[in-house]
Amino acid sequence: MARNLNPKCKQCRREGKKLFLKGERCYSPKCSMVRRPYAPGAHGAKRRRAISEYGAQLREKQKIKRIYGLLEKQFRKYFQAASAKKENINQAFLTILETRLDNAVYRSGFASSRTKARQLVTHGHFTVNGRLVNIPSYQVKEGDLIAAKEQSKNKIVFKEIEKTLKGYDAPAWILLNKEKLEAKITGLPLAKEVDLGADIKMVVEHYSR
Ligand code: SF4
Repeated sequence: MARNLNPKCKQCRREGKKLFLKGERCYSPKCSMVRRPYAPGAHGAKRRRAISEYGAQLREKQKIKRIYGLLEKQFRKYFQAASAKKENINQAFLTILETRLDNAVYRSGFASSRTKARQLVTHGHFTVNGRLVNIPSYQVKEGDLIAAKEQSKNKIVFKEIEKTLKGYDAPAWILLNKEKLEAKITGLPLAKEVDLGADIKMVVEHYSR
């Protein structure tokens, strides 16, 4: 599946806000939004003009796509799938995004960014209910058990994860076993509990125009 390969820090600078796309670096003084908190390009440092309602919706869409590392086609498909559901569309849309396997791995604290989570998944380091799954867009559901593969646990990357996991609290919909590197999906993420830093309602309004 295609993914957004644009430089990550430039994406944050374009949106004028930290999107936390690079893991540890995002929390350090090296973050580009600390050092150069203006849009990229020759005129990026100039003050931005006021934007229209349409423009604001578009920006929220870009932000959320960038946060999840998705391209337009896949993102729109998720919106269409959410529209077809009977539940509240904002909640359905967010549920689809949050229950991607790469995101669930990230939310479980097994990776410091969604990009790293996607890489770990594609490299075949995780099983779901005992079966290897290397598709980042795989949708996990309530009751699923995500686990690091036994052979993978000895790799340096997982030794690092074990250290960072100590101080990590998973969201309410994930029951984490830090010793076994397992995450049980015990429910579904609620829109009001997910702090994306972007307004999914505006994206729904944008697509519903
Ligand atoms: Fe964004 Fe992280 Fe780069 Fe900072 S370090 S600009 S938060 S991707």
